[in-house]
Amino acid sequence: MEDTAPKKKTDSQPVLRYYFTAAKKYPLVLGLVFVGNLMIQGAGIIGPLYLQRFINSIASTPPEQIVVGSLLTLLGIFAFINFCGWIGQRIQMLSIMRLEANVMVDLANQAFGSLLRHSHDFFISNFAGTLTRRVNRYSRAFEDILDIFIFSFFSTAVFGTGVIIVLIQRNLYLGLALLIWVVLFISIQAAMVRIRQPLRKKRTEEDSKVTGILSDAVSNQSTISTFASVSQEQGVFGVAVQSWKAAMLKSWYADAFIFAVQGLFALVIEVGLLAGGVFLYQRGLMTVGDFVLIQIYVIGLMDRIWNLGNSLRRLYDAYADAGEMVAILETPYGVKDIPNAKPLQVSKGEIEFKDLSFQFGESAAVINDMNLKIIAREKVALVGPSGAGKSTITKLLLRFYDVTSGGAYIDGQNISEVTQESLRASIAFVPQEPVLFHRSLMDNIRYGKQDASDEEVMEAAKKARCHDFITALPEGYETHVGERGVKLSGGERQRVAIARAILKDAPILILDEATSALDSESEHLIQDALKILMEGKTVIVIAHRLSTIMTMDRIVVIEGGAIAAQGTHSELLDQEGGLYHKLWSIQAGSFVADEG
Ligand code: ADP
Repeated sequence: MEDTAPKKKTDSQPVLRYYFTAAKKYPLVLGLVFVGNLMIQGAGIIGPLYLQRFINSIASTPPEQIVVGSLLTLLGIFAFINFCGWIGQRIQMLSIMRLEANVMVDLANQAFGSLLRHSHDFFISNFAGTLTRRVNRYSRAFEDILDIFIFSFFSTAVFGTGVIIVLIQRNLYLGLALLIWVVLFISIQAAMVRIRQPLRKKRTEEDSKVTGILSDAVSNQSTISTFASVSQEQGVFGVAVQSWKAAMLKSWYADAFIFAVQGLFALVIEVGLLAGGVFLYQRGLMTVGDFVLIQIYVIGLMDRIWNLGNSLRRLYDAYADAGEMVAILETPYGVKDIPNAKPLQVSKGEIEFKDLSFQFGESAAVINDMNLKIIAREKVALVGPSGAGKSTITKLLLRFYDVTSGGAYIDGQNISEVTQESLRASIAFVPQEPVLFHRSLMDNIRYGKQDASDEEVMEAAKKARCHDFITALPEGYETHVGERGVKLSGGERQRVAIARAILKDAPILILDEATSALDSESEHLIQDALKILMEGKTVIVIAHRLSTIMTMDRIVVIEGGAIAAQGTHSELLDQEGGLYHKLWSIQAGSFVADEG
């Protein structure tokens, strides 16, 4: 029923599909990247052929017979070809920058939009930090993958093929020798990646351990200091950095070993080709210019394939990074609008739950065949022991989850058949512990009605009894409230959330009262604010405080996902031995039994 937590990894194929779909929206720059690159490789292959002819001309002619004009022409062609390569570089750079910037923005937007459309359950099953990282890496990995593909793989393939074809035409054996060497070199690099990978992984693990110990120590600083255990912690940290050092050295040694092998290989091919050249030269099959040509080609080739192994590893990493977000993109939404869903039309604000049942996945039913009708503008309190299903009822009405059977109706319309957007626009929800954006208080309150003027925001804040504390802050309404609103007290945060709901002015209000005790002044202010908020609305309160319950039109006692009793406060109290009576006497004048 729900969107499950995404798996950690996915194959590279869907990643490439998503990336290609995003990139082909920019066909011109995408094409120019390849044009630019082909110009560079072309210049690198053809240019040296003119240098070769130039040198051959010089080598085969006595100085006094040299025709300066024809030599300069050869040099001119050589310069022109290299200039084309230079232009290719510019085209490639400019177009790849534009392409990557555009596509990365699109990917970030795509990931953001797709992520936030996942269901409530998805977010409570996944860490916020992990999700944030996945969105970030998804767009960044595109840059890595495209860079590696173009600068490393495509360049090597084109240049390598070109050079080998040219050399084979000059001399079959030289060309074949280079081909064999290239294949060997690449295979060795691929094998090296295998050796290197576990060592790098170990190094990253040790690195994370050090970071973990460090951040644990920083967040426990006051405990460490009161237990006078700095040196003990230093010891723990010391052991971790030693293991990190060992892992780091092993990984570096492996790198050094790989470079050593590569270096030897490079030397062998260079000398080998030249040595082979000597025999061919002796037989008149090679010219002086050919020696230069081979040198330039080998250096160019080396330049491109030297880091191929490294690129391959970075490519794997980038695939893995992007794959994590793709797994989320491919996870179907837990709660979806039906095709052609209509917007909800609220005329009165009447709510009805009919034969409502619900269970989380395969677990036992949380709501059991419940029937409840709340008439327009009625104020109903849900009370009952913790885990009875009160919050679940409100979450079903908000369609955070889809019902298992039966239905919830607003003014006769089944909420599963209307758009989620219109449903939620008609309901103001004040949660138990409101979380605020790290934006100004003005913006936080305005969130209830995006086009509200400053005056309207302040009016709502006054009604919610938060205007006074806000204006007392040095920056007033412009105060930023810290991540999740941590800079405000619980009572203040709640009043800001109430102000937001007042501004939203939705016909239906769901209120989950805070369970934690507030000081009596805060409590008093909140009750004041709530009174204003509830005016003229259909209200469902998950009540923990008797002061709220007393003013409600009806109290519904929920137990085991079903209605155990309902009536006014005094009617319910009269039922000796009833659950409400029991709850009341346990809490006598304070709170209704509930922690959740
Ligand atoms: P109340 O609000 O009355 O305290 P809830 O509606 O929060 O109760 O919970 C009802 C039952 O559903 C509890 O047994 C709770 O453990 C279970 N529950 C709540 N949320 C989830 C969830 N996301 N997944 C599985 N079970 C859940």
